[in-house]
Amino acid sequence: MSEKRVAVVTGASRGIGRAIAVALAAPGRDIIVNYHSSPQAAKETAAAVASRGGVPHLHPFDIADAEGVKEAFKEIIKAYGRVDILVNNAGITRDNLLALMKPDEWDVVLNTNLKGAFLCSQAVVKTMMRQRYGRIINVTSVVGVMGNAGQCNYSAAKAGILGLTRSLARELVSRNITVNAVAPGYIETDMTLSLPEKARELLLTQIPAGRVGAPEEVAAAVDFLASDAAGYITGQVIHVNGGMFMG
Ligand code: NAP
Repeated sequence: MSEKRVAVVTGASRGIGRAIAVALAAPGRDIIVNYHSSPQAAKETAAAVASRGGVPHLHPFDIADAEGVKEAFKEIIKAYGRVDILVNNAGITRDNLLALMKPDEWDVVLNTNLKGAFLCSQAVVKTMMRQRYGRIINVTSVVGVMGNAGQCNYSAAKAGILGLTRSLARELVSRNITVNAVAPGYIETDMTLSLPEKARELLLTQIPAGRVGAPEEVAAAVDFLASDAAGYITGQVIHVNGGMFMG
């Protein structure tokens, strides 16, 4: 990013979201650090953003709560005047085999990972249309294209993100707003920390690069899509997965 922009990153308290907030930070830029339940971690993100000269603003809200999202974006737009970049990053897992999956496990994952991206995008599009400028970047997953046993809810949500990305890209392209997705493979964060050692070893055999990825490697792709240099790229998916899937 080279000029003054306002960026919103959902789920920026930890992991990939934090790395994205830091990558987008630059002198004088407003970075809205959204989180849900980790205020201390969010403060650490804010400090990292500030250390790069960015201007962090903490905004806790639940991206799955329609009214909360509406209110939060109203406040954000009132306070900072515009939103140039929206990164729909926040996500959760509730893994289970389909035969054992409770409807609640399905609902909470779809409501957070897919509906959350819909709600946040809807809350900024009018502002972006007025600005005649916008970058929406959705964080999906390799699992959204490959599927994964035990993750029917998660992979359905992440595949849904791809449909949302492509349709919204077509709706907004004439207004100088791009909509793209980044699909991480296996990235070292709290989300993957809980994987049993055996599952981790098996996963590594499926990654040609022979290693897991770092949040900063995903953030670099998001930063590029958020830049002016990427203005002619829309409706696309950048895979950041060490060769795990090549599409
Ligand atoms: P993580 O370390 O578990 O962090 C998740 C983030 O999402 C946290 O900041 C959390 O906030 C936030 N969040 C969760 N529910 C929320 C809600 N309802 N409203 C607002 N924020 C909420 O996860 P991660 O690994 O960085 O994953 C980030 C994104 O990358 C997710 O969309 C994930 O599906 C995707 N992804 C990750 C991997 C991987 O290998 N790690 C691979 C593919 C895709 P709190 O801390 O406040 O709870």
